[in-house]
Amino acid sequence: MQKFSEKAKLWKLSNHTMNEASYYTKLENHEVQCTLCPRMCIIEEGRFGDCHARRNRNGVLSSEVYSKIAAINTDPIEKKPLYHFYPGSKITSIGTTGCNMHCSFCQNHTLSQVNNRKPPVPTKTIQPEQMAENVIKDISSIGLAYTYNEPTVNYEYMLETARLVKMEDKKTAMISNGYINPDPLHMLLEYIDAFNIDLKAFNNGFYKKYSKSTFKPVLKSIKAISKSGKHLELTNLVIPMANSEKEEFEEMCKWIAGETGKDTPLHLSRFFPRYELDQYPTPPEMMFDFFDIARTHLNYVYLGNIATELHSNTICPSCGKKVVERTYYHIAPKGINDDGCCKNCGTKIFKYY
Ligand code: SF4
Repeated sequence: MQKFSEKAKLWKLSNHTMNEASYYTKLENHEVQCTLCPRMCIIEEGRFGDCHARRNRNGVLSSEVYSKIAAINTDPIEKKPLYHFYPGSKITSIGTTGCNMHCSFCQNHTLSQVNNRKPPVPTKTIQPEQMAENVIKDISSIGLAYTYNEPTVNYEYMLETARLVKMEDKKTAMISNGYINPDPLHMLLEYIDAFNIDLKAFNNGFYKKYSKSTFKPVLKSIKAISKSGKHLELTNLVIPMANSEKEEFEEMCKWIAGETGKDTPLHLSRFFPRYELDQYPTPPEMMFDFFDIARTHLNYVYLGNIATELHSNTICPSCGKKVVERTYYHIAPKGINDDGCCKNCGTKIFKYY
């Protein structure tokens, strides 16, 4: 059997692994245009893109976060959250710095909302081969998850490490805002097994006001991931007075059911004041109301960031039996057979189990 280090070397020979960005165009006067995400930043020499992770260095766009790991942990897969992808397993989770959205309610702003005026975030350099080797050796981890800040801004490293760990049959997951252009996403789909995309609201006004971004590209990414057959779960942070209009929320649930299917797990997360959005937390009653609305359109809805025993279990949509009980990150899959089917009626619940 060929050793991992030899395989990694062979792959490296046919691919550039320097910090140069994969998606950009050179313009006049040493300017460049980044084409990785819908912002399409035009960047002058020496300047950073809007995500503060990409910089124009002498007319070459470079990834400034390549190999610079700001957070690394082995987390329960449920923490991503991914409830229907190898439930009960653990996954090595990494993040860098920067983000291509600027959400006033960001729950991870110390990593994501970096800029020249703030003190630098401490990072550790871990080259892709080393990262992949660590993950491959770790039998407690099913693979590698790109999370904490927006992984799109660390695109090249993600692609490279994902490709390396998948050579040894490990799994990969991306936890993302979905703000990425179609071509780079298409390339990623080959190497990422599971996605959790944050669908923040169902109108462009919200994205513009609270995230300084746009809505349609996110829907486009969700549709592309769903069409590709890769595992998809969605998250929505319910924020009072911001995205808490019931009719609009119901429209969103109907759209999910129609476009990605009733079996797409939807995680509703309770808002707590963070970063710049200083307002009261989402009342528990609102969370329960939204849960009920979502359940009329979708088979698997879960509440997060809230103490509740009833809203984080998996219920079989066919016979109504509880098949998985969850207490925080502990899971008890009492009603599931080894093939991921409901013990009571045989309905397939988990494709990846
Ligand atoms: S990835 Fe960063 S630099 Fe590139 S277009 Fe998006 S925000 Fe701008």
